[in-house]
Amino acid sequence: MLAHAREEDPRECVGLLLGGGSVAELALPLENVSQTPRSAYRVDPRRLLKALRQADDAGLEVLAVYHSHPGGPALPSVRDRTEAVWDTLYVIIGGATGEVRVFRLPQGEEVELDVCE
Ligand SMILES: [Zn+2]
Repeated sequence: MLAHAREEDPRECVGLLLGGGSVAELALPLENVSQTPRSAYRVDPRRLLKALRQADDAGLEVLAVYHSHPGGPALPSVRDRTEAVWDTLYVIIGGATGEVRVFRLPQGEEVELDVCE
């Protein structure tokens, strides 16, 4: 996940954290198809559906959606809150600080998540 964020910099990266229970076992990178990838992320709905099927086939649950803020803080932006439509956790990687923080959106409540590298 962190490697993905570094690879995509200065674009925002996006992907899913898959696992069982509360432990993330696998980061599944997705393509950011946003028109403004330096300040937003968007996933092709068909690609997302395929990713969800892959997770299901592997017996894994989607624990979180992750994305990065290259050069920005690991805090949800206004856009992140308004566009948070999935009932899952949101992991944000702050490029400026190298921090990884997890939020329940759109509420903005921060939560703890174990990430195995
Ligand atoms: Zn964001």
